[in-house]
Amino acid sequence: MNATPSPIAATSFASLPLSPETLANLTQLGYLQMTPIQAESLPPALLGKDLIAQAKTGSGKTAAFGLALLANLNPRRFAIQAMILCPTRELADQVTTEIRRLARAAENIKVVTLCGGVAMRGQIASLEHGAHIVVGTPGRIMDHLERGHLDLSALNTLVLDEADRMLDMGFFDDMATVIKQCPKERQTLLFSATYPEGIARISQQFMRTPLQITVQAQH
Ligand code: ADP
Ligand code: MG
Repeated sequence: MNATPSPIAATSFASLPLSPETLANLTQLGYLQMTPIQAESLPPALLGKDLIAQAKTGSGKTAAFGLALLANLNPRRFAIQAMILCPTRELADQVTTEIRRLARAAENIKVVTLCGGVAMRGQIASLEHGAHIVVGTPGRIMDHLERGHLDLSALNTLVLDEADRMLDMGFFDDMATVIKQCPKERQTLLFSATYPEGIARISQQFMRTPLQITVQAQH
């Protein structure tokens, strides 16, 4: 029987414009091949395109946006250059851990997690010490913005992770408020397991002709 033609997308991280240090770190992490969502989204994301990417849980979405935002980041610039909005504190903590693992190859990249249910004071101190990346929930990030603790003027990458869950949790208005405070000249990467109506609204209001990528669950 003839083999079904396979998709052309290359699956080796080495096919991407990543530094030798980053590639070595991925090998150390045991990331030998890109997952399907990484293979589809990393090439356009590394070119600076806006993306709406849909793939199931456990498919490696964090590295799909993490490697893109790290490639855009200047460690010598002490300013927030990337922000990742997540629905819950648990997910924000997981994303922070994964971004730190991916960032090991680079010099001293500081990631600060900003979620509710934690005292503001420690978060404010971390921000004052200087951060390159913030990861957090929309409500708490909005709080920091309103109080003037968070300067997003140097932001170049905005990630909306699990956007469908953030909408389910009633975060549309908070998300919109936060996104409006980001520089217009930026890359926006939206990740979601499903594509409800609210995602289309966000895309129309806040994204620049995003490329839509869907990776079907494999059976
Ligand atoms: P999602 O956000 O899609 O649910 P995650 O980003 O949390 O998925 O990744 C799920 C797991 O897969 C994590 O443990 C992560 O370290 C691992 N992983 C991600 N990309 C790869 C890869 N290319 N090769 C091997 N493991 C990977
Ligand atoms: Mg995830």
